[in-house]
Amino acid sequence: MIAQFRPEEFLAYYNNFAAPIAAFDCGSKCSPYNERGVPFCCDTRHSVPTAYQAEWQYLQENTDLWHIWESGDLIETSRLRAETPADMILIECQGHQKCQRDFRSMTCRAFPFFPYISSEDEFLGLSYYWEYEERCWVINNLDVVTSEYREEFVRTYDELFATESNERNNFAYHAEIMRKKFDEFERQIPLIHRDGNTYLIDPNNERMQIVSPQGLPKFGPYEIAAMLPFPDEE
Ligand code: SF4
Ligand code: SF4
Repeated sequence: MIAQFRPEEFLAYYNNFAAPIAAFDCGSKCSPYNERGVPFCCDTRHSVPTAYQAEWQYLQENTDLWHIWESGDLIETSRLRAETPADMILIECQGHQKCQRDFRSMTCRAFPFFPYISSEDEFLGLSYYWEYEERCWVINNLDVVTSEYREEFVRTYDELFATESNERNNFAYHAEIMRKKFDEFERQIPLIHRDGNTYLIDPNNERMQIVSPQGLPKFGPYEIAAMLPFPDEE
């Protein structure tokens, strides 16, 4: 099903979802771990942004920042295009040094989070794309996420779901897959709840336990850095 957004709506979506994720540039924390020295979410070898068709129209009319993404690898291009919903397209910006904050796509603003929806169809808050656990510094430091960012994220998706129920279904399906995967991994699902607390969710019965975000496990190089004598220097 094609989303019913209108291009002009993205001006308001962007204006109302503009708070930085943390009080400092988290890209300076993850980029040293990317061999290109680029924040992982701004490197299309790691993450290719998508835009709704109406969003793409809005961007084309207002900035030269973006172009349609294409990889030199035809198989990879076909694979990613096949995985992309019909109402979205894969896009690429001019690079992190030419970022235009006002014209970041919705996927840039939300990364690494997605709106987590329970099996009871309740939009509880923010969980993250777990495949980036070993790359994204924010995932390893959920305590840095500002309340302003969380509130804007929740308000944006509340509004977006009111406009486009199909989007809610897509994210509900993603949360269902996460519950299945985390059940297999024998792990609990981290959640920044819309109430401001951090929880772990049991993927089986969906019971929630409040936790300190500082106590959550770290992954990949961030786990190693946390074991160093001066972890703040990671
Ligand atoms: S959101 Fe994650 S991947 Fe993107 S710049 Fe921040 S730490 Fe890096
Ligand atoms: S628009 Fe900015 S935040 Fe989005 S991918 Fe490009 S450099 Fe990164």
